[in-house]
Amino acid sequence: MDAQSPRPSEETLMQPETLDPADWASVAALAHRIVDDAVDHLDRVRERPLWRPVPEQLEACFRAPPPQEPTPLEDVYRLVKDTVLAYPMGNIHPRFWSWYMGSGNFTGALGDFLAAIQGSNLGGGHHAAALVDRQVVSWLRDMVGFPETASGTLVSGGSVANLIGLTVARNAMAGIDLREEGVAALEQPLRFYASDQVHSCHRKAVETLGLGNRALRRIATDACYRIDLAALRAAIAEDRAAGFRPACIIGTAGTVNSGAVDDLMALAKIAVEEDLWFHVDGCIGALLAIAPENAWRVKGIERANSVALDPHKWLHAPFEVGCALVRDEAKHRETFAVSPEYLQGMSRGIASGPWLYEFGLQTSRGFAALKVWMALMEHGAAKFGRLIDQNIAQAAFLADLVRAHPPLELLTEPEINIVCLRYAPEGLDEARLKAINVEIMLRLQETGVAALSDTTIRDRHCLRVAICNHRTRPEDLSLLISQVVGLGREIAQS
Ligand SMILES: *Cc1c(COP(=O)(O)O)cnc(C)c1O
Repeated sequence: MDAQSPRPSEETLMQPETLDPADWASVAALAHRIVDDAVDHLDRVRERPLWRPVPEQLEACFRAPPPQEPTPLEDVYRLVKDTVLAYPMGNIHPRFWSWYMGSGNFTGALGDFLAAIQGSNLGGGHHAAALVDRQVVSWLRDMVGFPETASGTLVSGGSVANLIGLTVARNAMAGIDLREEGVAALEQPLRFYASDQVHSCHRKAVETLGLGNRALRRIATDACYRIDLAALRAAIAEDRAAGFRPACIIGTAGTVNSGAVDDLMALAKIAVEEDLWFHVDGCIGALLAIAPENAWRVKGIERANSVALDPHKWLHAPFEVGCALVRDEAKHRETFAVSPEYLQGMSRGIASGPWLYEFGLQTSRGFAALKVWMALMEHGAAKFGRLIDQNIAQAAFLADLVRAHPPLELLTEPEINIVCLRYAPEGLDEARLKAINVEIMLRLQETGVAALSDTTIRDRHCLRVAICNHRTRPEDLSLLISQVVGLGREIAQS
């Protein structure tokens, strides 16, 4: 200690404070009310508008400086209810189909609550939460057909799960001790391959890994937006001839634009022939593997070297939870394991369990496993598989509705649960069509009726309906169609 620093005061020591309430009974009543309100909130989700803008004066409240003085919990809760819960993003609503996210579930919310109550840190150790974490990873491993010897880790979501997989791929394929030497010591620049439909997180991953965006070669896709296998082989050969070191093929099981599933079996075969790492971005589609009617679509995923998947999508876990799986546990551990003096294992006590932080970037990690574990226990994995089939059947139904309602146009035949459509009366140019469809999308959001997003696929702008939602019913999709047609007519005429 610095000789100058004053001694802590006697008062600080002798009049201890705590964050616990003075009287637990008083918070119990409020906590019960919060649960009752939460149940009611979910029970009536269909009756409320999906979304509404946050009023200007409310936004100002969220710019206030940190409070120094206390506020009774009762009042804090009222504030949360009126200002936070009242203005949701909307993704738990039955007519939310924007981007790609799950719709949550109450059991998962209870799981998050109980996880926070126990408060365990999944950095590792000998305790039940670590066993639950391991069990959830092993369940996900089994779902995609990976062997028991594979390893994995729960992370914040798919972007980090992909980063974990690509990091192991980079280190395993570098040909040097990359952890010690760094990317500057690479004799040949590494090359990764993915389709031109690959999710943007892979760009961030190769940039973060020090390889640069150009290290990720985007390969052309076929008429169904799947990676073109001949173009992939040609790119690998071209790179070898040019002095690059091909390292990894990234297959996508469910692209974000249109839900295309690459031919994973063929990619696995090419990876073996070319001696490359095979990573599958299964954030959308890895769990097709548990859907009875659609599992065939991801045949070959079990041959990957690593897989990223996202329980906060098709398992509807409340945010956040993603999972990275690696077939070769040793390579996974070799990429991340460090053993600092303050985290040594013991043969007894809390530190006698495995250090789970050896499988990823985080040291401390939350108990996200519990929400997944509880919902899987309650419903059984088979039901989640059926819900996946249900969303895919709904997408086919929606595509039929689009075909039956000119001037709606179907841009892609849905392979899984994503439908790309637009309001396209004859004789209008692309710019005008885009303006009309963007306006349709915004009005649907602003009226709180439905949420979809937009994208551009092969230079054509369209509305995109991603049905990853266990609350959606066929009548919601019929309503969407009548709304899009009605709004389109109104906007086109104005
Ligand atoms: C959602 C998604 C990601 C990113 O996952 P996050 O959980 O949002 O981080 C990556 N790839 C695909 C194909 C996705 O759909």
